[in-house]
Amino acid sequence: MDCLFCKLVARDIPADIVFEDDDVIAFRDIAPQAPTHILIIPKRHISTLNDLTEEDCALVGRLQFTAQKIAKEVGIADDGYRVVMNCNEDGGQTVYHIHMHLLGGRGMAWPPG
Ligand code: 5GP
Ligand code: ZN
Repeated sequence: MDCLFCKLVARDIPADIVFEDDDVIAFRDIAPQAPTHILIIPKRHISTLNDLTEEDCALVGRLQFTAQKIAKEVGIADDGYRVVMNCNEDGGQTVYHIHMHLLGGRGMAWPPG
């Protein structure tokens, strides 16, 4: 499959990996939008949030819990952070393998752009 993040999971392209287990991998975004900008993805290919099934509920929870663990490890948990998952064009999705953005290290505006 011609998927950038599947290639990253397979180590066909390099990444600054900060966490990995059997199901999930997390790495630093190549174009960070905040002092901390880490992407947390399932190793299994899922194109968009619209493709989730009920069987994926635990996996999505695992993404969120991994974000919490990383936020604590990198020291942004107490000040706060934002997690974002973009879906399709209006959501701003550019890589079609679901991923959770973990953003922190600065104040975040609301509403988002
Ligand atoms: P999206 O816009 O789909 O929500 O987020 C995709 C993210 O992937 C963007 O923040 C972009 O900077 C990041 N990205 C794109 N290509 C690469 C890459 O090759 N390596 C890494 N580490 N991040 C990437
Ligand atoms: Zn993929």
